Amino acid sequence: MKPDLFQAPDYYGVDDLLSEEHKLVRDTTREWVKKNLSPIIEDYAQQSKFPEVLVNGLAEVGAFGPYIPEEYGGAGLDQISYGLIMQELERGDSGIRSTASVQSSLVMWPIFNYGNEAQKKKYLPKLASGEWIGCFGLTEPNHGSNPGGMETKFKDMGDHYLLNGAKMWISNSPIANIAVIWAKNEEGRIHGLIVERGMEGFSTPETHNKWSLRASITGELIFDNVKVPKENLLEGKTGLGAPLKCLDSARYGISWGALGAAMDCYDTALRYAKERTQFGKPIGQYQLQQKKLAEMITEITKAQLLTWRLGVLKNEGKATSAQISMAKRNNVEMALKIAREARQILGAMGITGDYSIMRHSMNLESVVTYEGTHDIHLLITGLDITGLSAFK
Ligand SMILES: Cc1cc2nc3c(=O)[nH]c(=O)nc-3n(C[C@H](O)[C@H](O)[C@H](O)COP(=O)(O)OP(=O)(O)OC[C@H]3O[C@@H](n4cnc5c(N)ncnc54)[C@H](O)[C@@H]3O)c2cc1C
Repeated sequence: MKPDLFQAPDYYGVDDLLSEEHKLVRDTTREWVKKNLSPIIEDYAQQSKFPEVLVNGLAEVGAFGPYIPEEYGGAGLDQISYGLIMQELERGDSGIRSTASVQSSLVMWPIFNYGNEAQKKKYLPKLASGEWIGCFGLTEPNHGSNPGGMETKFKDMGDHYLLNGAKMWISNSPIANIAVIWAKNEEGRIHGLIVERGMEGFSTPETHNKWSLRASITGELIFDNVKVPKENLLEGKTGLGAPLKCLDSARYGISWGALGAAMDCYDTALRYAKERTQFGKPIGQYQLQQKKLAEMITEITKAQLLTWRLGVLKNEGKATSAQISMAKRNNVEMALKIAREARQILGAMGITGDYSIMRHSMNLESVVTYEGTHDIHLLITGLDITGLSAFK
C-alpha cells in the first residue's frame, strides 16, 4: 500500500467548532492510525484476518469506552470526542472502527447503563484496556431487521438460567471473551445476559468468505443448554428498547465513522487527479473529474455539519433515535457514493490494494446494512415525521 499522505478536508472550518480537547483526541488518533494501522491494514484485509496486534493501541487512544467514566477504566470523554475517534479509525478501516464500536457501544455501554456495580467492576476495566474483547448478539438467522421476533430463550432453573438459541453475523464473536446477548424469558420478555467464553455449550464458529469488512472477524454464537449464572443478567432495562438504546450509541459512532471513510476516499482521489496526466493534462483539469470532486466535498461538508450538530445534541442528552438514524443513513450512503466515484477517478489503479478506496467501498457495503439497514433507517424517519409505522 502507498504511504498514508492523508490530509483532512475541512471546507467550512468545522475545526473552529471543536474544543482544544476534541482536536487533541482527534489528532492523537489520526497519528496513531497513520503510524500503526495504515501500514498493515491492506495485508490483513487481503488475508481476511483481524489485526489483533492493534488491540493495545486502540485501548491507548481511548477507543474502548471513550465516554465511560475513568473510574471504570474508560477515557471519560464527551460524545464529540467519541465521534472523532470513530471518524479517524474508519478513515483507516471500517473493520477496525467496528471492533471499537462493538466494544464501546454494544458491550461496555449496556454493562455501564444496565449492569449492577459488581458487573461494572468485573467487566469494564478489562474491556477498556483491551485485555478482554466483547461482542453483541442480537441478530439471528431468521431475525435481522426484526429482532423483536428473536427465538433465543432462557429459562429460570432456580440457581441458574438455561440458555438456548443462536445468533449470527456477530462482529468479534470468534475472539470474544464475553458476549452481551439478548434473549427472551419464559414470558417472552427480552433481557440482556453476559455469556462468557468457556461456559459449557457455548461456541462461536467463524463466518468465512466475506468480501466486506475483511479485517474484522465475524461469527455466530451458539447456545446449546448453556448454564448462565444468575449474576450475569443485566437487570437495568428489559424489552426491545434495551438493545435498541445500545444501537443508538453505536449508530451515532457509525455516522462519524462513515464520514472518515468518505474523507479518505476524497483525499486520495483529489491527490490522484492532480498527479495523473492524460491527453497532456492532469485529469483533475477536466470538468467531468472536477464535478465528481466538487460534489464529494459538498456532501462531506454537509455531513460534517450534520454530524457535529448531532454530537452537540448527544452531549446535551437531546439527540433522538430518529435523528441518529438520519445521520447514520445519510453518512453511510454518502460515503458509499463517494467511494464509488473516487474509485473511478483512479481508473484501473482504483481496484488495487495500493490505494484504500476499494477496501473502503467493500467495507461500506456492510456498514450500510448492519446496525439497521438503509431501508429501515428511512422507515424510522418516516415513522418519526408521520407518526405512522410502515414496518408491517
Ligand atoms: C459484517 C457484519 C457484521 C455484523 N455485526 C453484528 C453484530 O455484531 N451483532 C448483531 O447482532 N448483528 C450484526 N450484524 C447483523 C446486521 O445488523 C443485520 O445484517 C441487519 O440488521 C440486517 O438484517 P438481515 O441481514 O437479516 O437482513 P433482513 O432483515 O433479512 O433484510 C433484507 C432486506 O429486506 C429489507 N427489509 C427488511 N424489513 C423491511 C421492511 N419492513 N420494509 C422494507 N424493507 C425491509 C432490508 O432493508 C434489507 O434490504 C452484522 C452484519 C454484518 C454484515
